[in-house]
Amino acid sequence: PKPILEIKDLKVYFGGGGFIKKAPLVKAVDGLNLTVYENETFGLVGESGCGKSTTGRAIVKINKITDGHIYYNGVDIDTIKGDQLKQFKQDVQMIFQDPYASLNPRMTVGEIIREPMDIHNIGTKEEREARVRELLEIVGLKPDHIRRYPHEFSGGQRQRIGIARTLALNPKFIVCDEPISALDVSIQAQVINLLEELQKEMGISYLFIAHDLSMVKHISDRIGVMYLGNLVEVGDAELLYRQPMHPYTQALLSSVPIPDPKTARERQRIVLEGELPSPINPPSGCVFRTRCPKVMDRCASEKPAMRKVGDRQVACHLFDE
Ligand code: SF4
Ligand code: MG
Repeated sequence: PKPILEIKDLKVYFGGGGFIKKAPLVKAVDGLNLTVYENETFGLVGESGCGKSTTGRAIVKINKITDGHIYYNGVDIDTIKGDQLKQFKQDVQMIFQDPYASLNPRMTVGEIIREPMDIHNIGTKEEREARVRELLEIVGLKPDHIRRYPHEFSGGQRQRIGIARTLALNPKFIVCDEPISALDVSIQAQVINLLEELQKEMGISYLFIAHDLSMVKHISDRIGVMYLGNLVEVGDAELLYRQPMHPYTQALLSSVPIPDPKTARERQRIVLEGELPSPINPPSGCVFRTRCPKVMDRCASEKPAMRKVGDRQVACHLFDE
């Protein structure tokens, strides 16, 4: 498979400025490497504040990159200009968690979905109108919804409106930032199914962000687990879910009650000690060491590199040769 997105040693820091009194430097993403292939769904999970949204926002160029590179189809997105930048902005889109906050309440649904085509000057007025109707149908809304306003719709329908707007520019890569977290459980599966159908029909790649592993398990081909601005484990979704290797992934998964087929009992819950450290002052060595049940002496002094272990990539000294 061909990579569509490659992230190399990405760092996104906030703050640190100020002349008389320096603002604290927040290391939101601190050396992330990640590849997403064409047609793939890559699930990115971790607790809130671990840097997943920051990564997503860096990909769509909302967040500035402090260091490292993001390549889209082999081109560094920091260097693209002119027509290439225009094409990039059409190709790479983002779906947000709160479909209500991201829809302008004073615009009709038709205007909301048409707006990206207006901005990018795509097609004639008639062609845009026809495309809006087509998009409404694709996401499962009715043609007469076109003249209504966002507040007239449920959360699930509003997310569909947001998806239709995103699709208006025929994207190739969509960052989905917790698109179902704010929805009722009964609606979540419908939105997931819609996203999967769209992928099949249009060949879209997704970076699917969630705080809960069980939410990304079904939609993802591979999953990456993030902790404090770092990826700690990457693997095939099914295998990672069945047999987590990194101590943090194990803890994260243990909070999801699933029966262990071998013992017919529920997997034992691992409760992490202590608080999530601040990204202003992350621990030396392994970022997880202050809460890791398996911490060793060397974890404080040596940062574990991401290494290949069987089918997996894991950053943990337990897997050093
Ligand atoms: Fe735990 Fe050490 Fe592995 Fe970090 S490197 S996850 S502290 S055992
Ligand atoms: Mg977030």
